[in-house]
Amino acid sequence: MTAVAAEGVGYTVGGKAILAGVDLRAEAGSLLALVGPNGAGKSTLIRALAGDVRPSSGVVQYDGRPVGGFKPRELALVRAVLPQHSNLEFGFTVREAAALGRRARSRMGASSPEEDRAAVDRVLSDTELSGLADRLVPTLSAGERARVMLARVLVQQTPVLLLDEPTASLDIRYQHLVMRLARARAGRGGAVAAVLHDLNLAARYADRLGVMSGGRLAAFGPPRRVLRPDLLSEVYRHPIRVIEHPGEAGLLVVS
Ligand code: ADP
Ligand code: MG
Repeated sequence: MTAVAAEGVGYTVGGKAILAGVDLRAEAGSLLALVGPNGAGKSTLIRALAGDVRPSSGVVQYDGRPVGGFKPRELALVRAVLPQHSNLEFGFTVREAAALGRRARSRMGASSPEEDRAAVDRVLSDTELSGLADRLVPTLSAGERARVMLARVLVQQTPVLLLDEPTASLDIRYQHLVMRLARARAGRGGAVAAVLHDLNLAARYADRLGVMSGGRLAAFGPPRRVLRPDLLSEVYRHPIRVIEHPGEAGLLVVS
């Protein structure tokens, strides 16, 4: 069971504080949604949690161990990252692109070819890509490609999963499919952190919500505590209302 924590994380570029004093934990068995307006620092925070950018101050730790001390190969077994923008390898089929997620594991001798094949089959089925397995990735629609990228990180089977806008460019059905997969991973003990723009998906699926604003964590806690109209309206600089969902035991955010 692995947790990842940012402690006092700051990141400054050219004199501008992109992150400042961020304290945040993504716990094993829990789904954390990171929300906040454009430019709030969500992607930078995900990259800092991943160990891909080095904070200017503070530290990111995996179970108390600073991420800077991990060898790249170790890190690849601990966390998988879905970046907001990713360049998919051209010339790969869907199956091959998903299988790239197994490389670190098989190189470390941590899985057999049979296990790799079974894991890829499973993830293609989970992401509803089995029927597209032999298609070349560049021939896919944006939404299909987004699911391939997700398949590639899910198949890594790491205890920590960091997803930057995994539901962008997906239709409603697939947004929910992706959130169910993220939840299922948390249900099996994973620590999942996902940047989401849709506050309603966040309200419905997340155990914890972190609201980023201007490089700081403006609020953190269970959705019911965090989704306050005053806070959201201020952070997004737009009037936002929060009502009870008519059909679910949850909240609905309306603008
Ligand atoms: P979000 O994902 O919340 O939209 P980002 O983390 O991508 O926000 O970016 C936060 C802010 O930091 C933005 O204003 C962005 O332009 C700025 N930023 C990010 N990386 C750099 C960089 N390397 N140099 C300068 N500004 C940056
Ligand atoms: Mg971003």
